[in-house]
Amino acid sequence: MAVDVATAYVFNFVDESQLGEIEKTLEELAQSLDVRGIIILAHEGYNTTLSGKKENVLKLLTHITQVFGQEELPFIKWSQNDKHPFRRFTTKVRQEIVTTTRPDLNPQNLQMDYRSHLSPKEWHETLVNEKDDIFLVDTRNWYETQIGTFKGAVDPKIDEFTEFPEFIEKQNLPKDKKILMFCTGGIRCEKGILDFKAKGYENVYQLEGGILNYLKEFPNQEFDGECFVFDHRVSVDQNLEPSSQYGLCPHCGQPGDVQIECSRCDGEAIICKDCRSKESESLHETCSKNCAYHWEQRPGIKGPRQKLNY
Ligand SMILES: [Zn+2]
Ligand SMILES: [Zn+2]
Repeated sequence: MAVDVATAYVFNFVDESQLGEIEKTLEELAQSLDVRGIIILAHEGYNTTLSGKKENVLKLLTHITQVFGQEELPFIKWSQNDKHPFRRFTTKVRQEIVTTTRPDLNPQNLQMDYRSHLSPKEWHETLVNEKDDIFLVDTRNWYETQIGTFKGAVDPKIDEFTEFPEFIEKQNLPKDKKILMFCTGGIRCEKGILDFKAKGYENVYQLEGGILNYLKEFPNQEFDGECFVFDHRVSVDQNLEPSSQYGLCPHCGQPGDVQIECSRCDGEAIICKDCRSKESESLHETCSKNCAYHWEQRPGIKGPRQKLNY
């Protein structure tokens, strides 16, 4: 049965003391609507990816948006999947809805010029016409950028977004430089832009709705490769279909596309290039942590086929 997958976020304050109650209500509602996924809740807003029947997902989104004091639904990115990409519904209460360790930077807090958001069309035209004059930067982490990014984008090769401000500082860009930044769904850039503005940059833009929104309108154009997503689909291709190429490497958790047959159990699996090329190669020609462990303890001794979650 096909399910609809929605990603959305809202920056709007609620009282910290309400979060526990909000969490409880959401869990009950998700259960009654058969909606799965994850909702990150914080004092500053929510950030979520949900899957289920479209009308039910909308009901849940409407509820939580109102709880966060907003009348209108935010921008929602929709995609389809043959089955639930999540095993269950979870909520997490955090300090921020996207980790920057800068809870003081809230889009609701500072006066922000909403025109810092470029629609996919505006974004596309800027890339095509002004490529030589702009600083185009990927705000995602290194393991996300390596399977796909915009043509000509600068890759900061960061481990996490908290390193992004420091990377920017080191670039010594002129304050009037036209800067275009992007991420998967737009949320990381909401905070990244505020950081740029706080540092005095005036000509900074983000891609509205992120890469996923761009691919919806411009597949096979300025974006090369696949887009990493934070659920069991691992990544989506140019047509926003779940990846047939990548799986999560059982050894290290980054996206991989190396097909192997497990040395110990002969099961087929996908691992990543890094683990494949590690010195102890035979160790990582295994389908799972379990097989890797037993193969290391008793090399050459076969074991039962492992159940893998692909
Ligand atoms: Zn790996
Ligand atoms: Zn195995």
